[in-house]
Amino acid sequence: MEDHLRPEPATNNWIHRAACAEPDRDPEIWFPEGSSAKAKGNGREAKRICFDECPVRLKCLKHACRVRAAVGIFGGVDDTKRNDHDFDYDSLKRVGRK
Ligand code: SF4
Repeated sequence: MEDHLRPEPATNNWIHRAACAEPDRDPEIWFPEGSSAKAKGNGREAKRICFDECPVRLKCLKHACRVRAAVGIFGGVDDTKRNDHDFDYDSLKRVGRK
């Protein structure tokens, strides 16, 4: 993971509770590149962890939207969806799992 993409722990205490920060996780799955089966599988697994295991999903998604994170999956939402002109930043709780 590129360093500039990591949230700043000193200003974001919620990151310490992030499911993706657990030591057995591979951070690269939150940044799948290309359209290979492996990349798609990694992306699906990252989103599953976000939705099913992370207690700070909405904080993460709000942070990614606020800083306009260019790439990667945050809060279970990938950059394609976040950067969609129709993405509604004010209704983050209604964001689905796609
Ligand atoms: S929502 Fe996903 S990317 Fe965000 S902190 Fe949780 S596990 Fe990490």
